[in-house]
Order: sequence, then C-alpha cells, then structure tokens
Amino acid sequence: MNKKVIIFSAPSGAGKSTVVGHLLKTFPFLEFSISATSRAPRGNERNGVEYYFFSQEQFRDLIAKDAFVEYEEVYPGSFYGTLKSEVERIWAKGHVILFDIDVKGGVNLKRIFGDKALSVFVKPPSVEELRRRLVGRGTDSPEAIEKRVAKAEEELKFEPQFDRILENDVLEKTLAEADEIVKNFTGR
Ligand code: 5GP
Repeated sequence: MNKKVIIFSAPSGAGKSTVVGHLLKTFPFLEFSISATSRAPRGNERNGVEYYFFSQEQFRDLIAKDAFVEYEEVYPGSFYGTLKSEVERIWAKGHVILFDIDVKGGVNLKRIFGDKALSVFVKPPSVEELRRRLVGRGTDSPEAIEKRVAKAEEELKFEPQFDRILENDVLEKTLAEADEIVKNFTGR
C-alpha cells in the first residue's frame, strides 16, 4: 500500500490553517491526523474530532506502552502527540495523512517518516506582513502580538529543514501552488 504523509508547518499567522482547510476540501484522499492531548477540551471541541482527549495519567500510560509515533510536553503538564493507531487507521483506508503541526513537530515528523513524508513550510511574505495580519485578526493584545512575532522570527529559522517552501503572499496563488505540491507528491 502507498503509505504517505504530508506535513504542513508554519509560524503562527502565516495562513497555514486556510491552506490545510482548502486541501482537505479539494482532495478526498487526504485525511487530517487527529492528535492526542492531555489538555482539557476547549469550547465545542469533541473527543475524536479536534483531538483525542486523555487525562495526564492515561497519556503517561500510553507513553509507557510506546503507543506514540511522537509526543511532546508542549506546555507544562500538557502533552500532545500522534498515536501509532491514528496513523494506521488512516493508512488502512488508503488515505494520505495530513499533519498540521508547529515547526518543531514538523521537523520531527519528517525525520520519523523520511521518504514517506513531504514537509511543507508555509511562509508569511515578511515579518512586517505577519505583524499586520495578527493586528488585522484582532484577537491578540499588542503584547501578545509582539510575543508571537518574536516566536515567528525564531520559527522562520527552521525553513531550510523543510522539503518545500510555500510563500503565502496572494492567497489564490498560494492555494493553487499547494494543490500542485499535493498532486506531485501523491501522484493522485
Ligand atoms: P492547542 O492546545 O492550541 O490546540 O495546541 C497547542 C500546540 O500543540 C500547538 O503548537 C500544536 O502545534 C501542538 N500540537 C498539536 N498536536 C500535536 C502533536 O501531535 N504533537 C506535537 N508535538 N505537538 C502538537
């Protein structure tokens, strides 16, 4: 069977979620990998949709059982990871796995999956543009925006470790390019 994974990573505000949402709608054979987490559900989040939710104890138990492809303690006490069973579930359907993950997670997954994986770095046109987008989104305080911009500057340094760079300048062009990337890699 053709077991493939596509990894999308980006500094926050680069427009990654828009790209990933578009690809999932366009290609029925792509399936989003649902991560496991030990954090509590937020808002309308449902188990098995946004995440598989576990207690910290259950999560540690799964780590001990070697149930994860990869996991990280992203915030103190909050674990996140990809279950081996999730990967097998999606491949068993003949689908290609789509990961939407932070840049460090993306680099780790590429290392784990090797030639089975294509890692794509979604890049904002510039740090200034990124700041403008975060301001425009209106969801963060000025301090929070500066923090995110500083983090993005750090994250931009990971760009050379990715297979493909997708610069998100004009959205329509970006989405068309993303389609080409998926078609080329999957041959579907
Ligand atoms: P949130 O709690 O806001 O949903 O996610 C927090 C962070 O966890 C994000 O940076 C996200 O990329 C990261 N994350 C989500 N799923 C996974 C995963 O399976 N593995 C790792 N290492 N990080 C993840």
